[in-house]
Amino acid sequence: MRMRKELLEMIMESSKDTYPNEFAAFLRAENGVIYELVILPGTISGRRSAIYQLYTKPIDFTLIGTVHSHPSGVTIPSDEDLILFSRTGDVHIIVGYPFRLNDYAVYDRNGKRIDIDIV
Ligand SMILES: [Zn+2]
Repeated sequence: MRMRKELLEMIMESSKDTYPNEFAAFLRAENGVIYELVILPGTISGRRSAIYQLYTKPIDFTLIGTVHSHPSGVTIPSDEDLILFSRTGDVHIIVGYPFRLNDYAVYDRNGKRIDIDIV
């Protein structure tokens, strides 16, 4: 799996904009390249738990996973994150404060660390 560098930059900028709240979105991929964020209505709000909005997932097979921010800076999934991962696709990115380009970790649906290529 690969991801466009421009998208990673957009994720970091959005996470900075929503800090100290969480940023959360779905990831859309085509031909093995994640190229777009899909932000659900109401996902970005003043609440800490933006991630929970993702449970209202539309049926769309181009959505291959999720991304969300951890304002704490720790990019380890919570128990709630692991449940979400198991239900919403194969690629899950957690970005952490201060949201530099390498402040992220990627997990599969089982919560196992995986690598993606930034292209
Ligand atoms: Zn989380």
